[in-house]
Amino acid sequence: MGDAWLNEVVVRDRSIGSLRDTIGESRLLRVEGAARQLLAALRGRRIVNINSTPTGGGAAEMLQNLVAYVRGLQIDCRWLVIGGDAVFFTITKRIHNRVYGFSGDSGALGDAERRHYERVQSVVAEQLVAFLRPDDLVLIHDPQPLGLAPAIRDLGARTVWRCHIGTDYRNEFTEEAWDFLRPYLDRLDAYVFTRASFAPTWLDPSRVVIIPPSIDPSSPKNRPLDGRTVHRILAHCGLQRGEPGPTLTFVRADGSRTLLRRHADVLQSGPPAPPDAPLVVQVSRWDRMKDMGGVMQAFADNLAQMGDAHLALIGPAITGYADDPTAAEVLVDSVTLWRTLPHEARGRIHLACLPMTDPEENALMINAVQRQAAVITQLSLAEGFGLTVAEAMWKSKPVIASRVGGIQEQVIDGTGVLVPSGDHDAAAAALAELLADPSRRAAMGRAAHERAQTFFLPDRHLLQYGELFLGLCDR
Ligand code: UDP
Repeated sequence: MGDAWLNEVVVRDRSIGSLRDTIGESRLLRVEGAARQLLAALRGRRIVNINSTPTGGGAAEMLQNLVAYVRGLQIDCRWLVIGGDAVFFTITKRIHNRVYGFSGDSGALGDAERRHYERVQSVVAEQLVAFLRPDDLVLIHDPQPLGLAPAIRDLGARTVWRCHIGTDYRNEFTEEAWDFLRPYLDRLDAYVFTRASFAPTWLDPSRVVIIPPSIDPSSPKNRPLDGRTVHRILAHCGLQRGEPGPTLTFVRADGSRTLLRRHADVLQSGPPAPPDAPLVVQVSRWDRMKDMGGVMQAFADNLAQMGDAHLALIGPAITGYADDPTAAEVLVDSVTLWRTLPHEARGRIHLACLPMTDPEENALMINAVQRQAAVITQLSLAEGFGLTVAEAMWKSKPVIASRVGGIQEQVIDGTGVLVPSGDHDAAAAALAELLADPSRRAAMGRAAHERAQTFFLPDRHLLQYGELFLGLCDR
């Protein structure tokens, strides 16, 4: 099978010191101390991450940042990405949807799918075994590469599964997905979940570890941008009326200065949103569970209550998502829905695909659109933990989100509004109320930022991983 491969993502080291201004000296010292302790315990052993995409989605976003920090702390941390053919990713997308309690497509997860999944894994495993050392600590992310676990364990390496997805409830689809995954979860050293309720009860509870995700405040996605720069970026992308000015550049992680070159593909009727119009934003992959269509419909159906606000639904250019075979279909459905809306709604609802070719450029565009937002929504039907929610909170934005999964640990009273998932009327009412009340928005935004500062930054995340790996070294 030629359609299965393994690549290493090269990540530049980043100093944890770049977080000094945001987390303060004592939090910084704690991470540095924990890293020294882990480094001594590792005695040259490596930490190897494996997932299925270098960009796009929450897991890749976190790996970009955390691997860089861990390397900056002198720990040899690697990141491998596996790939398979289209059938493989159709199967893994089905698993993903069903872990979330939805059927996804109507396909089966039976013996034929298991055979194909394992065939891809066995080809990848040959390359992986050549790369791995028996004393590595391996962190497998999500279901796509989980089938590699038995081969990694057989090699003698400590093996941890980090599951970024999950639901609080079980139904026939979640059961089907977990039945599929269960054989690969046998006798791993640890199982990391975002929320305790996500872990299947048949896993050895003494090996289940709860670690919520984090965002990186110093990354291009989250670092501060002044209002003028936000405007220039959005005008350049085609997301805001006005002129971007002559040359628009940004500084990369490696310190070089680059021209912001690419534009967004924007679907809108008439001009982009005016700079002074309140902007409602949802940033999501084109995935049915993000319910971009529902957000659009809720906004359009209640346009009169939205004042002069505009809605921007922002997702990635679909070419960037090899591991997500349904993205194109979901985007087409969103475009079709947009075309059925009344003219006035089409003039105020903007659908944009941002280029993914250059992740730093993409991150800067997301940063700008989130900073321009008056309100950010995340009306997902299911969500392990919305990094987009944490990003919004960090940027002092009130969030209206569905009361599902890990979002419930992010948005608490005073930092945003939770509505029942799929309840578009409740979402529209909450939105109309917030749009009409700038001072409540500001107060919520302040509380949201404080919560993100306390709970969702990399130092807390690194300390929890550090503790886990220290335990594995001792075992
Ligand atoms: N994202 C992005 N470009 C896009 C859409 C999303 O960089 O066009 C990022 C988003 O900012 C966030 C991540 O992808 O950092 C999505 O993570 P989240 O946990 O919200 O959802 P997931 O995609 O993992 O389900």
